[in-house]
Amino acid sequence: MVTDQVAPGGLEQVRTLLNTWLIPNDTRTPTDRFHGSPTLRDLRDDLRRAVERDADADLLVTAWIDRLGVLPVVREGRIALQARKQGEAWETLRDVLQSMMDGSWHRLKACPDCRWIFYDNSRNGQKRWCLMNAGGPNGRACGTIAKVRAYRERNRSDE
Ligand SMILES: [Zn+2]
Repeated sequence: MVTDQVAPGGLEQVRTLLNTWLIPNDTRTPTDRFHGSPTLRDLRDDLRRAVERDADADLLVTAWIDRLGVLPVVREGRIALQARKQGEAWETLRDVLQSMMDGSWHRLKACPDCRWIFYDNSRNGQKRWCLMNAGGPNGRACGTIAKVRAYRERNRSDE
């Protein structure tokens, strides 16, 4: 387990859910280890698209707010969120909305190489790859692999 990828609060559970779809290092074949309700799987797939920025994240998440009937409610003078439809999907969406309100959501990122979802704990928030070093037997040094690839391509074009 690479601890510097861990997201704060409930966002870590969201990250764990998103990584039930993964490309294992050894096989490099996309694998789905999700076991749960179809609704939660739909939400996972939409949230993966949102994190991978290959669709309109705002529209996707807004559609889930409608689907689960999320409404603000005032409790003890503070705004909280509640949903008409309770359950795992709501618990996940609530953590996502909370992270959007506190600004941590945009630090949840997908590695452009292996598509692993990681939380960017770096000071400047500019991290792009899941890892620069393999960090263990199952780790993949995507940042280093990308650097080597870019270096080879640069040298090829010099020839
Ligand atoms: Zn990676």
